[in-house]
Amino acid sequence: MKYKIPFNRPSFLGNEQTYVAEAIAHGHISGDGLFTRKCHELLEGILRVSKVLLTTSCTDALEITALLLEIQPGDEVILPSFTFLSTANAFVLRGARPIFVDIRPDTLNLDESKLESLITPSTKGIITVHYGGVGCEMDDILDIGKRHGLPVIEDNAHGLLGKYKGKYLGTFGSLATQSFHETKNITCGEGGALLINDPQYIERAEVIREKGSNRSRFLRGEVDQYTWIDLGSSYLPSDILAAFLYAQLEVREQIQAKRKQIWELYYESFRDWGKQHEVRLPVVPEHCDQSYHLFFLIMPSLEHRQGLIEHLKSRGILSVFHYLPLHLSPMGQQFGGKEGDCPVAEHVSDRLVRLPFYNTLTEADQTSVVNAVLDFDFKEPGS
Ligand SMILES: *Cc1c(COP(=O)(O)O)cnc(C)c1O
Repeated sequence: MKYKIPFNRPSFLGNEQTYVAEAIAHGHISGDGLFTRKCHELLEGILRVSKVLLTTSCTDALEITALLLEIQPGDEVILPSFTFLSTANAFVLRGARPIFVDIRPDTLNLDESKLESLITPSTKGIITVHYGGVGCEMDDILDIGKRHGLPVIEDNAHGLLGKYKGKYLGTFGSLATQSFHETKNITCGEGGALLINDPQYIERAEVIREKGSNRSRFLRGEVDQYTWIDLGSSYLPSDILAAFLYAQLEVREQIQAKRKQIWELYYESFRDWGKQHEVRLPVVPEHCDQSYHLFFLIMPSLEHRQGLIEHLKSRGILSVFHYLPLHLSPMGQQFGGKEGDCPVAEHVSDRLVRLPFYNTLTEADQTSVVNAVLDFDFKEPGS
């Protein structure tokens, strides 16, 4: 079915077409060309991290991370159950056992108070996800990591340009990963980046990203031929994609301002209504500047959630839910996951609904969404 108001729509807001044409004219369309370098410099300049490497996806940046941490069969990594499956899969591919931690009821981020009891001698890392681009409690998490000698990794797919206590998300962990998938704030269709904060990982990350070769050093003239020196794969995006991405990065402030406006209109429209009907809105702590990645409602019951999705569908509006907790997925169950392991994630997963949210959402369309939600009949959620 075709929706009058989709859930997501990719948008073209700057010089995407011009730069893509330039990349083609330039004659270098494989990885690490002119626009890839421009993206690296721009992101390193904004975020002040030691190194940024564009990748073909956030999933791939997580895979590089698992290789950099030298994850071996039998190792454990701790991560929230309420996340996208790649957060786990990248480590499971190397033989790790995912240990799922429950989330906080307010921000839906990993619950740092439940973290320490899950650490064992096999633990090799802590993976955080800044849900919706609202920062996890990084002070506590970094402190736990430090005391146990464990690297902290940020899956920052939602959180580019968000801040925790005034510092950019993605700059806290030893390594962090970004996504530029079509559904994210800033996109090139499919793409990602690895942010390296701990410089000890830079050289090896370049090798892993270049198929296990020292080609990056060769191109810089540091060695006179390149060869196979380590594990690796092909994680470089084409410069055509980097050109598209660079155009979006250039207008990042315009994108973020627009998303802030959308988020605030939803929030203001539903504040009183939410209190009346026991619908919970997102919580953003004072010390977090969020990235305005998504807007959700937590309905009083599963029946109300499904009812609202149907109700919006009848008005031509697509709303969606996520995430099925990873510990209850078929893969999660193979690792022993069972109901009751992460009660907050299970509760939220049944009740959460996400509303249309994209850079070109017009105020008129958003008002239609708001009015449709406000018309929802709580007494007969199925009608
Ligand atoms: C979107 C997303 C990913 C995967 O991003 P890709 O670029 O599609 O690989 C990983 N983790 C989280 C939390 C995400 O939201």
